[in-house]
Amino acid sequence: MKRPDDPVTIARDLLRCRSVTPAEGGALGFIENLLQPAGFKATRVTFTEAGTAPVENLYARIGTSAPHLVLAGHTDVVPAGDEARWSHPPFAAEIVDGVLYGRGAVDMKGGIACALAAALAHVAARNGQPHGSISFLVTGDEEGVAVNGTTKLLQWAAEGGERFDHCILGEPSSAAAVGDTIKIGRRGSLNGHLVVTGRQGHVAYPQLADNPIRSLTALMTALMATPLDSGSAHFEPSNLEFTSVDVGNPTVNLIPGEARARFNIRFNDCHNQASLKQLIEARVAAAQGNMTARWRIDWEPSNADVFRTAPGPFLDLVVGAIKEVTGRTPKLSTTGGTSDARFIKSYCPVLELGLVGRTMHQTDECTKISDLEVLASVYRRILDRYFA
Ligand SMILES: [Zn+2]
Repeated sequence: MKRPDDPVTIARDLLRCRSVTPAEGGALGFIENLLQPAGFKATRVTFTEAGTAPVENLYARIGTSAPHLVLAGHTDVVPAGDEARWSHPPFAAEIVDGVLYGRGAVDMKGGIACALAAALAHVAARNGQPHGSISFLVTGDEEGVAVNGTTKLLQWAAEGGERFDHCILGEPSSAAAVGDTIKIGRRGSLNGHLVVTGRQGHVAYPQLADNPIRSLTALMTALMATPLDSGSAHFEPSNLEFTSVDVGNPTVNLIPGEARARFNIRFNDCHNQASLKQLIEARVAAAQGNMTARWRIDWEPSNADVFRTAPGPFLDLVVGAIKEVTGRTPKLSTTGGTSDARFIKSYCPVLELGLVGRTMHQTDECTKISDLEVLASVYRRILDRYFA
């Protein structure tokens, strides 16, 4: 029989849970049953909000003293899509030629399995008495709208008096080999709608109308023409990308009264949300020239600010552990989309270290078995050093 702290066994059990957001699918119950016998105090918390599905989350802690290291992650997964297109069923956790297949294999049940295995082994080696505190902060709402997940779980924990010193989030940070890349920050994300209002009219009498599409395209061209910045020490250049242009006009002989374009900006630490809005609005105003159409930008609220975890002993410890186990020196990256680290960073320094992300959200999502073993060893080394 496999030991309870074998990452492959844990990963397979987790993959067999159909925890497609927002379903719990048995995944959190499985983790609870794994951690409790080892001495963790586990609490399941359900959060709700009008207009969204209620979502279950899990917080489990062992130890009462500092330092307090949090291992964070999510057990929810994106849908499998057409299951017939998978070479191996998405919730069967089949292993073929040293590769484990299943939805969530890398994003991120595999990562959670490695963290669980490492923590169980570490705690067992300390006879159930860690030299500090280890917590698991696991949400079932990361792949969805992410309103009933980590953000509320952190708030709930803080209100209960929990204080965290550092966090490792097990998202699939690695590019080609485990530990080759860790995320030390993330870009911010901001959505807006550029809305141009003209004057409706007959297409045969354009002199009597003011076609907002002419102005909109000119303003869009201006916004796309000049880069927002040229990048910073730790970040790629910020980027504005139009994602939709909408007029909604079904009539062939009508000049519409309004046209809108939706855009998203991924921004680096040259900006904050307020300065970025100012910059964009100033550029549109400058591009307006003597156009007669009126414009405005409707900004959507954003909870995705740019952040970077400052260098220091914690980063050094994680980098050192990766080097010892894998021989690799990780690249310190801030690329990619947003993650729950954007919420965690307000409570404690957070680094993202996980499996190779290549197949995440794809048909035939998979991880090498050897990658699970290496990542579990890296996590174990981090725990051993952190609580030395
Ligand atoms: Zn993920």
